[in-house]
Amino acid sequence: MRISEYNVRPDLPQELKALEEIAYNLWWCWNDDALELFRSINPASWEKSRHNPIAVIGSLTREGYEKLMKDPVFMSRLEAVHKQFTEYMTLPRWFELEHAKKVEEKMHVAYFSAEYGIHESVKLYSGGLGVLSGDHCKSASDVGIPFSAIGLLYRNGYFHQYLNSDGWQQEYYPYNEFYNMPMRRALNPEGQEVCVEVMVENRTVKVNVWRMAVGKIELILLDTDVEGNSKEDRQITGQLYGGDSNMRLKQEIILGIAGYRAIRAMGRKATVYHINEGHPSFVNLERIRNYVSEGMEFRTAVEVVRKSTIFTTHTPVPAGFDIFGTDQVKKYLGPLFENCVLNINQLMGFGRVNPFDESEGFAMAVCGIKLSTYRNGVSRLHGEVSRKMFKNIWPNALENSIPVGHVTNGVHLPTFISEEFKTIYNRYIGENWYYKPYDFTIWSKAENIPDAALFKAKQRQREKLIAFARKHLKSQILQRGGTSGELVKADEVLNPDHLTIGFARRFATYKRGYLLFMDEQRLHQILNNADRPVQIIIAGKAHPKDNGGKEIIKKIFHICRKPMFRDKVVFIEDYDIEVAKYLAQGVDIWLNTPKRPMEASGTSGMKIAANGGLNLSILDGWWDEGYNGENGWAIGAGEEYEKETYQDHVESMELYDKLENEIIPLFYTRDRAGVPREWTRMMKQAIKTCAAFFNTSRMVMNYTDQYYVPVHELNSAFRANKHEEAKEYVLWKDSIIQSWDNVQFVDTKVEADDLKMESGVIFSAAVRTDAIQPENLSVCAIVEFDGASGEFKDPEFVELEFKNVENGVYSYSTKTTLKKAGKMKVAFAVLPRHKFIKERFELNQIKWA
Ligand SMILES: *Cc1c(COP(=O)(O)O)cnc(C)c1O
Repeated sequence: MRISEYNVRPDLPQELKALEEIAYNLWWCWNDDALELFRSINPASWEKSRHNPIAVIGSLTREGYEKLMKDPVFMSRLEAVHKQFTEYMTLPRWFELEHAKKVEEKMHVAYFSAEYGIHESVKLYSGGLGVLSGDHCKSASDVGIPFSAIGLLYRNGYFHQYLNSDGWQQEYYPYNEFYNMPMRRALNPEGQEVCVEVMVENRTVKVNVWRMAVGKIELILLDTDVEGNSKEDRQITGQLYGGDSNMRLKQEIILGIAGYRAIRAMGRKATVYHINEGHPSFVNLERIRNYVSEGMEFRTAVEVVRKSTIFTTHTPVPAGFDIFGTDQVKKYLGPLFENCVLNINQLMGFGRVNPFDESEGFAMAVCGIKLSTYRNGVSRLHGEVSRKMFKNIWPNALENSIPVGHVTNGVHLPTFISEEFKTIYNRYIGENWYYKPYDFTIWSKAENIPDAALFKAKQRQREKLIAFARKHLKSQILQRGGTSGELVKADEVLNPDHLTIGFARRFATYKRGYLLFMDEQRLHQILNNADRPVQIIIAGKAHPKDNGGKEIIKKIFHICRKPMFRDKVVFIEDYDIEVAKYLAQGVDIWLNTPKRPMEASGTSGMKIAANGGLNLSILDGWWDEGYNGENGWAIGAGEEYEKETYQDHVESMELYDKLENEIIPLFYTRDRAGVPREWTRMMKQAIKTCAAFFNTSRMVMNYTDQYYVPVHELNSAFRANKHEEAKEYVLWKDSIIQSWDNVQFVDTKVEADDLKMESGVIFSAAVRTDAIQPENLSVCAIVEFDGASGEFKDPEFVELEFKNVENGVYSYSTKTTLKKAGKMKVAFAVLPRHKFIKERFELNQIKWA
């Protein structure tokens, strides 16, 4: 029997077209009125579909439409939401106002990521990277950046989790019904559906292209589950991070190469390429291949690609990067590059630290780094860690000048702040927290929120979280085939008035989910103190192949079942964006215990702070930067340990101490009105200091000013006059590198009347070269005051001015004032200088005096 399937699309009457328009733009997922509008249509199908407006609309019959149209309350709500939506889509935003010229010049950012976490109903994410990419998109829309995001349309997304009766994680995969997702086929400028092709191994794979609207920006999704592709190829976009290394390689070919072809076919002309993590790095190779096939000289093409790309690493460990073997790359990518000037060895070089070392595989992150102008980590500490991690790519650079910066992550506040808190903020801070979340002066008004109102709002959120947890628990019990007695008990777990600690994250070993449970007896005393009871809610998945992570979950599961912890410690299965929101909004304390410096940034703690929760965390990732002594608690002081068991012991002890001696007493010390004044003071500190900075509006604006705009400008300069300047730059670079050996210092001097703070000092140097013009050299005095003798840690570069030339010797000097007292270390160095060199050590050339 052959069964054919057809999708019958709903055909809404004219009066309800606005509903469809809103449903097909994910803007609804951060607008509470829109969410309520869809829920009100049919609460049961809303729940059943995991809050999917398209499914809710699709479940309506003609009578259903009639009923809505006859409901004046519904219709006026629809009108109001549609008005908000139209305003959102048309009002000019920060970028359009501040960078009007860039809008005119048609700056356009193409953002590549392997996953996007936008809403629980759109299952194209696994965890932190996905949620961050989703938030990046939402904020790019909020601040008005011309922006397209590119990703894969996974048929099965990432796994759902449940635990068997022994607490062992079980996995099953969702099936994404594309017609129930808020997207449509992408169209080319002629209005035809876009389908691109790409060679994988020796086959041509067809890739359908879809478009999802996220406010003002678009998310472009690639799908190989296309008729005509082999069964195997149809599964390339099956599972997120599923399959073996060959599968990963194929997925990355689709993401980078088909992704680039898709945006071109759609008529998008990106001027800035933002690559997130190594996964999309093949886009660089495809762009080079494309330029070369259009007749551009190879090295010019490389430079053009480099000068339009930024690369962001989200991992602190090299083990997190994909590395493919030479044979593997040859097999899968070889045919694609067959008829191209680019040979496979040149290709391999981009993915190796040492291009000529045949034993090195192709590292996607190295390819991202080598073919970009700017690179960054995702918190201040991660910037440092990344400079260490990648220092062998620039063996001549000082460690702190390794050209990898940082932009600290954030969260999309309208997505993660509860309705209750939004109302409070609107009332006491003003609606500008929403429109200008990056403005510190607005957030400082958090002081005006009355303590009682703030605590009451939190109380309400905690109640909601507990109700949610109980409901969740009941469905978990049902799924496991539990008894009716268990079901009744589930309604009695947790207490809405008790201090609630949340802990939810991927159960990777370095996150140390077990730390809180190191001393069960002591934990028992803490939780079951009759006057000051405490409870814990836990959630998180382990990677399907990570048995260590699964063991931790199992251990916690069994602890939850012990009589002394029952009702007090609850594990919520299947951590996703919805669970994350309830936790972020409802818990009082958010616990995070990574092994420093393994947490690149982490963002869940930011969601907590924006909802008035307090962080209790190791000083790692964002908290190393966010903690100020008054807005939460630190475990440790940023130490790193050699011995793991010792570290676990010390840090778990401190964790218990902080809870017993500081946190719990503070929460339960109430005034006569029942308000914990000192606690609410800290809540306000957290709101004021964290929400104002750790949000994605600020983050996206940082990316724009630090990287997107400068890269757009570089790219414009390069593209003008048929890439004339790019060609010149390549020649210039060659000549500099060729004559660099002959650059040498003849003399250097530090002259001062007296070496006192505030007094003047003259740095001068004489340099000899055979062929380089003086303006092409950057001669610097490198000055540092603090730190150990004999090395530079984070020195200042004082640029000397060119004065004159005599007998082929260039003189440079400059006068500055000494800003500090103490031991001053000075060295002189010369580096290449060019208007297109944006980072001092970009060319990895330096000569020391
Ligand atoms: C915010 C969020 C994360 C990020 O969590 P961290 O532990 O801070 O990295 C992961 N998963 C989901 C579902 C989230 O909402």
